[in-house]
Amino acid sequence: PVLSGPAIREQFLRFFADRQHQILPSASLVPEDPTVLLTIAGMLPFKPIFLGQKIAEFPRATTSQKCIRTNDIENVGRTARHHTFFEMLGNFSFGDYFKSQAIAWAWELSTKVFQLPPERLVVSVFEEDDEAFAIWRDEIGIPAHRIQRMGADDNFWVSGPTGPCGPCSEIYYDFHPELGDEKLDLEDDSRFIEFYNLVFMQYNRDMGENLTPLEKKNIDTGMGLERMAQILQQVPNNYETDLIFPIIQTAAGIAGIDYAQADEKTKVSLKVIGDHVRAVVHMIADGISASNLGRGYVLRRLIRRVVRHGRLLGIEGEFTTKVAATAIDLAQPVYPNVLERQTLIEQELQREEAAFLKTLERGEKLLADLMADGVKEIAGVDAFTLYDTFGFPLELTQEIAEEQGITVDVEGFKKAMQEQQERSKAAHETIDLTVQESLDQLANRIHPTEFLGYTDVQSSAIVK
Ligand code: ATP
Ligand code: MG
Ligand code: MG
Ligand code: MG
Repeated sequence: PVLSGPAIREQFLRFFADRQHQILPSASLVPEDPTVLLTIAGMLPFKPIFLGQKIAEFPRATTSQKCIRTNDIENVGRTARHHTFFEMLGNFSFGDYFKSQAIAWAWELSTKVFQLPPERLVVSVFEEDDEAFAIWRDEIGIPAHRIQRMGADDNFWVSGPTGPCGPCSEIYYDFHPELGDEKLDLEDDSRFIEFYNLVFMQYNRDMGENLTPLEKKNIDTGMGLERMAQILQQVPNNYETDLIFPIIQTAAGIAGIDYAQADEKTKVSLKVIGDHVRAVVHMIADGISASNLGRGYVLRRLIRRVVRHGRLLGIEGEFTTKVAATAIDLAQPVYPNVLERQTLIEQELQREEAAFLKTLERGEKLLADLMADGVKEIAGVDAFTLYDTFGFPLELTQEIAEEQGITVDVEGFKKAMQEQQERSKAAHETIDLTVQESLDQLANRIHPTEFLGYTDVQSSAIVK
């Protein structure tokens, strides 16, 4: 059936509630776990239970969890299926049901509730997981050649060097069954999309990498809401689903662009805006504010990418709060905190956008000069000036340069950053006139700004 995004969310949760799962609200994007920057998966709020540090209140739970994955930031708009912000639908068993039941329900949900034709589904198992292979073949009835064995990189889940871990099994949807069964290459994303991942937490791994079976085995699953929406709404990518497309249309309207007629590059910019605006709305609603550190830096980087892509579309002046209004509208029925914090979201966006626009204009001029005819590479010191004085994250300089086929000397950038830190350290000890003089000269050459600059090396490392 053609189902709306909210209907998919609801049907998933209801399916598992009908099977004695407790429906729990999404946890915040800011995890309780101090070692993790942002909530990256539905299991994260349950990690203490899986690690045996906390006792589960319910043996079964189901959630639609807000997630942010910064590792996918470069994929946004470029693949059809990756977002920074997305919702992961999940069903969890804490020492209750296990592999056979989890597979049976995943199959029933996919083929009966969402009515995906079985002949369009291909599954993967961990190469050594003969048990999962046998369940798919004998209990579900999937032909053996449509059950693919995959290596540990993709199909073995670990929470860290030691602790609970186990094999996974994924379900893929085939957009082109007419191509036949001869070559079922799940890596080919023009044909297949992974939409459901089942993790069978069945071992404990010790310091010596030995696996011992867990007494209480767990189930952790994740289904991408936007991906299921793409499949059921029969649109070419996640961005054109009802979960995101209205945001894109607002941005396109401001830019005076007709999405359907737009070229590929324009569509990528619109998709980046659609994705990132949704992300920042939820991040601010969950209490994050822009800064040069950690998750605050992620937020700042996302807002800056929105502003820059807006300029690529020809939008002059401030526009992010208007686009955010659509994202807030879409989110508020399920996430009331977004509506409650609407004013805060607008203020934060406005402040960041205005500050960035100011420096962006000056930085863009400098960068254009640096990319004069015939230039193949931007020197590390120049990339550092853009970073330090104009607030251009290294990734942004790289992105702009790459559009012109120009590379950036990253090693030189790092060296310049290090030198500056050594200088500022030394400045506390002695006053070095030569260094101060050259800094003054540099400042004059590139026009002084109010921007205070980034001084934290780690913040850029975190979001890489
Ligand atoms: P992929 O291989 O496509 O990058 P993944 O294997 O990294 O996905 P998992 O970690 O298994 O994804 O997450 C469980 C599910 O969450 C996936 O099957 C997918 O439906 C969804 N998902 C994962 N990453 C994203 C993302 N960046 N954007 C949207 N949905 C995602
Ligand atoms: Mg991934
Ligand atoms: Mg995968
Ligand atoms: Mg996966």
